[in-house]
Amino acid sequence: MNYYRNVFNNDKTIRFLLIFGLVLSISKGTRVLGLALIIYAVGRRGTYINIKSEIEQTIRRIKNKLGERKNFLITRCPNCSQKVRLPRRKGNILVTCPRCGYKFKLKT
Ligand SMILES: [Zn+2]
Repeated sequence: MNYYRNVFNNDKTIRFLLIFGLVLSISKGTRVLGLALIIYAVGRRGTYINIKSEIEQTIRRIKNKLGERKNFLITRCPNCSQKVRLPRRKGNILVTCPRCGYKFKLKT
């Protein structure tokens, strides 16, 4: 989990540098600084970055997050209050808590 968080933070930093670099490179006075930031960000990643696909990935990630909220229901186990994520629109289902094994019925 820690590893994932590090990667995510790293990606976020690089994306920020790229966007900031792009903004700076629009203006003539700060173009050199902007390009330097872009080169730095690309260099940090170690591979050539297709900026368009980076932006598409970000949009897809946001869409996924929104979709998750629409398709899943977050509830708590009545026995141990563990958070449980359930698919929506499945009618009455028997939920088994992943932590304590407690079974409870829920309408989704
Ligand atoms: Zn439980």
